[in-house]
Amino acid sequence: MEASLTARDRVGIQDFVLLDPYTSETAFLENLKKRFHENLIYTYIGTLLVSVNPYKDFDIYSKKQMDIYMGVNFFELPPHIYALADNVFRTMLSEFNNHFILISGESGAGKTEASKKILQFYAVSCPSTKLLNNVRDRLLLSNPVLEAFGNAKTLKNDNSSRFGKYMDIQFDHQGGAVGGHVLSYLLEKSRVVHQNHGERNFHIFYQLVEGGEEDLLRWLGLERNCQHYRYLVQGDCAKVSSINDKSDWRTVRKALSVIEFSENDIEQLFGIIASVLHLGNIKFEANERGYASLNNNNQEMNWVSKLLGIPTQVLQQGLTHRKIEAKAEEVFSPFSVDHAVYARDALAKAIYGRTFNWLVNKINESLVNKDSSRKTVIGLLDIYGFEVFNWESVPFFNNKIICDLVEEKHRGIISLMDEECLRPGEATDLTFLEKMEEKIAGHPHFVTHKLADQKTRKTLDRGDFRLLHYAGEVTYCVVGFLDKNNDLLYRNGKEVMRQSKNAIIKLCFPSTEPDSKRRPETVVTQFKSSLVGLTEILMSKEPWYVRCIKPNEAKQPGRFDDVLVRHQVKYLGLMEHLRVRRAGFAYRRKYEIFLQRYKALCPDTWPNGKMGRTKIFIRHPKTLFATEDAFQVCKHRLATRIQAKYKGYRVKGD
Ligand code: ATP
Ligand code: MG
Repeated sequence: MEASLTARDRVGIQDFVLLDPYTSETAFLENLKKRFHENLIYTYIGTLLVSVNPYKDFDIYSKKQMDIYMGVNFFELPPHIYALADNVFRTMLSEFNNHFILISGESGAGKTEASKKILQFYAVSCPSTKLLNNVRDRLLLSNPVLEAFGNAKTLKNDNSSRFGKYMDIQFDHQGGAVGGHVLSYLLEKSRVVHQNHGERNFHIFYQLVEGGEEDLLRWLGLERNCQHYRYLVQGDCAKVSSINDKSDWRTVRKALSVIEFSENDIEQLFGIIASVLHLGNIKFEANERGYASLNNNNQEMNWVSKLLGIPTQVLQQGLTHRKIEAKAEEVFSPFSVDHAVYARDALAKAIYGRTFNWLVNKINESLVNKDSSRKTVIGLLDIYGFEVFNWESVPFFNNKIICDLVEEKHRGIISLMDEECLRPGEATDLTFLEKMEEKIAGHPHFVTHKLADQKTRKTLDRGDFRLLHYAGEVTYCVVGFLDKNNDLLYRNGKEVMRQSKNAIIKLCFPSTEPDSKRRPETVVTQFKSSLVGLTEILMSKEPWYVRCIKPNEAKQPGRFDDVLVRHQVKYLGLMEHLRVRRAGFAYRRKYEIFLQRYKALCPDTWPNGKMGRTKIFIRHPKTLFATEDAFQVCKHRLATRIQAKYKGYRVKGD
């Protein structure tokens, strides 16, 4: 008995449902920390998996480990992401229904790594044929491609996903992975033209400049020097020690070929990426009337014109003028230099954003499964950034007042921001702040420097606003809000692009696209509507959860920052999850599985008491603890000493 207790003391418990006392956040944290320091990064809350980013590589993701977890009962082995993946897979096969795994956590917590591990598990472990191997490779290789174009180095994470991703993996009735589909959510396009200090643009730009073959760079008119490109140097960290752009380039190039991008596709694609870099280097001068001008021989413009196949004149006009339709007449009104810079950046963002969507579609084409027999799917949802995802209701927790503060029509923060975005040239981040101060003053969960009492004021800068979420306060700096939210592409920018001979740009800017006279949707509004669509996709599937935790801000192994982790335990709602799982039946298992594990504890074959039809339910956690403890002890060959004590434990039925 001592031996097992010592082990348990050292490595903690592997399922928080067994935590005693289960309401104690401190005990929760202690357990997490204890396991983290023993290199045990996974812990369960029932079937929910908590994962703490170790910031170092362990040998726990090998093929051998996959084999160990394949087909084994969930609670039999130490917690692992493979156990969860396997459990979802087997439930899908036996019940023939659809599932999804929601992976959440803050930036750098390990969501993307977790989703990759799950995908690898399916790709390697599921039954496969030669035909399926094709799909398998493409599923796996879609990752480096999407990461190259959609991830970037940020202050929080050297490989931060700057788009939300939902991926379906389709299985046939034998469990072979036969296809897939990716949905991407709102790429952070503003990064193409602006990066904060210590951050980079999307990886692909640096990969191309650092790794691109000599011939290719010559054809694209690029120099092998990131410092040369304005869009690459604003964060002042083009080189990052943890990133090898050169070898990543080779990986991406190879992956593109496997996913069936033709050489022509690849040429056109990098023509676009290079054009964006050239666009960023275009400088406007003020002419004698103070308007933006470009001389005919502008090198950068010539390169964009060549690579996108757009006549120079058209491009030049498009970059310096705006088309206005007045009384059935078309008039070109010249831009100021500031306006031209803004329009240039808007164009660069639109080109990149639409090309990214094309890339996702292209990947989907290669993952499509033409066989019409019924398939089941497992979806993987990896959404970046702070937890914005509130669709999943957590009992005991009413968040409506905060949701309204953010979302309410006409009065919510999003509405006010959208309104300000409709006044380009007049509205600024500060007028947005003032508008919030005027309309939301007095709200118990909203505070700014101006609205705060004296004590709080000291903790806020003038450009800050603070939301008092239930899980804690978050202070936002208003600078850049409007710009990020504005998705304005001047209409003639689109028209210029429609004249392109580049096949991808042609697809991205179709002439059939309606020329809406309305303002385009702002970024948050697009985000909201795409989340509504996603919710519908998820509603028809069974959910599973992985909650990722970041142990420290320094991205270092072995460091567990109590305050930081406590905060995440709060906003990830882990204590609530634990409470919910404990309040219901703590344990529900098929008889055979229960019997298999605990049969050694009882001299009779079956305990007396009420029982369910196919499963056994144990309501009182103490009963389960006692049983599990007994099992642990039993495992250490001390069964005989405790059998009597545990004989006749109560079992409740449904
Ligand atoms: P973001 O929201 O910014 O995209 P994320 O939650 O997706 O963040 P990841 O990119 O998955 O975070 O993880 C950040 C880094 O942490 C990884 O690049 C890797 O170095 C490390 N990491 C994450 N999970 C693990 C793991 N299980 N084992 C080892 N290292 C890990
Ligand atoms: Mg990520």
